[in-house]
Amino acid sequence: MKLNELTIKEASEKLAKKEISSVELTQACIDRVKKVDPKLNAFLFLAEQSAMLAAKEADKQIANNANTFLTGIPYAVKDNILVKGTKTTAASKILENYESTYDATVIKRLSQAAPVMLGKTNLDEFAMGASTENSAFGPTRNPFDLERVAGGSSGGSAAAVAADEAIFALGSDTAGSIRQPASFCGVVGLKPTYGRVSRYGLIAMCSSLDQIGVLTKTVEDTAISFQLLAGQDEFDTTTLPKHVPDYTRSLNLDVRGVKIGIPKEFFIEGLDQEVRNIIQSAIKQFETLGAEIIETSLPNVPYSVAAYYIITPVEISANLSRFDGIRYGLSVAGKSLDEVYFKSRSKGFGAEVKRRIMIGSYASSAGYFDAYYKKAKQIQTLIRDDFTKAFEKVDLLLTPVSPHAAFKIGEKADPLAMYLEDVFTGPLNLAGVPGLSVPAGATESGLPVNLQLVAPHFQEEKLIQAGHAFEQALGLKLKPRLTG
Ligand code: GLN
Repeated sequence: MKLNELTIKEASEKLAKKEISSVELTQACIDRVKKVDPKLNAFLFLAEQSAMLAAKEADKQIANNANTFLTGIPYAVKDNILVKGTKTTAASKILENYESTYDATVIKRLSQAAPVMLGKTNLDEFAMGASTENSAFGPTRNPFDLERVAGGSSGGSAAAVAADEAIFALGSDTAGSIRQPASFCGVVGLKPTYGRVSRYGLIAMCSSLDQIGVLTKTVEDTAISFQLLAGQDEFDTTTLPKHVPDYTRSLNLDVRGVKIGIPKEFFIEGLDQEVRNIIQSAIKQFETLGAEIIETSLPNVPYSVAAYYIITPVEISANLSRFDGIRYGLSVAGKSLDEVYFKSRSKGFGAEVKRRIMIGSYASSAGYFDAYYKKAKQIQTLIRDDFTKAFEKVDLLLTPVSPHAAFKIGEKADPLAMYLEDVFTGPLNLAGVPGLSVPAGATESGLPVNLQLVAPHFQEEKLIQAGHAFEQALGLKLKPRLTG
């Protein structure tokens, strides 16, 4: 096995035993990126020099036996998360030459363990999209089929992990941006509870829904990497002072007697037959493992996409006003301040970003606020209540992640078709609950399909417990046949 193909667990054991060095491991990942990334476009920026320096430092720590699980492990970062001294573009022309002046809290927290930051990954511009086609720097291609999308918006992170360019990656998720690309690329993706992980240093899209999470090769790796991210942060007042359990402990628990709800609103007409079959056999697998399967309902979930595409644009129109051609990034000269704003934003933002700023400004304007934004927020409360009620009877919910496997590049040119991608993932963000996207099978043509596990607020350990038990029982090994 090549070093870049190792999991966090495997690599860190080999590092601890000094069978391999972080320099060798990092070099293997960098070589892989150079070989396959011209085809994939998963990375926007490869931090080769600083990664090799970090690997040398990690090796010193390991030599002194001062290492922990993540020491010397190469990882990739979605390019809307700030890493001091590196470019952070959010895949937008408006930030093309922007360099981060500080580390996001997640980067700081990870740094305590001295992992190796390999580079920044591609995304839909400002994380708006579900295919990475909205990136100003070209789409990321799916390692399982280069004609297809990697999903989005964290498509670069998902493809990088699936193609063994990075051992794990960070992503962000506002309505599915970690879980859906994880499904399209056959890796594990965790969207934590809103308030579990600090958003400080994440370029805001919809602040009330955004969460940072991890994309990994196994559920065990999710437990290991998520451990360091979770917890309160004084720089993000929406993080809560909740106890952070030892997530690796949940790996030893089985699912006997665990009550798993199957919400009927997720098994609708548009669900692809192959995906439906894969999810049905996953449900059977859980039954065989001793879980109790219970049919349940989340009656307001069908309104999530409509509510999301009001709430999100409203926050986007406010959050993105800071990109004015003066404070950050691209600036186009003009005769007046207004003209600088107008020209810089016209040139710097892509079509989807502009569309959302316009919809958001409209829906939050004085005459329309009550009819649109207020209504959407009321629906959000109903959806949240649906989850609370469901969790009175069950421990977890199980659903598909996406109605289908990865689609072809260019297939969803209509923005509304793209918005429907969030149909099964968005409800969790609106409710604030955590979700885990776990490989469950593949279509006949070899495209990965994941299932989604959902837990009550701050109970990620339940996701890890059930996800791990399922993964072990299934024994699925999906690897793209990427040559290069
Ligand atoms: N597809 C959704 C959107 O375009 C979600 C993206 C995300 O989770 N960042 O807004």
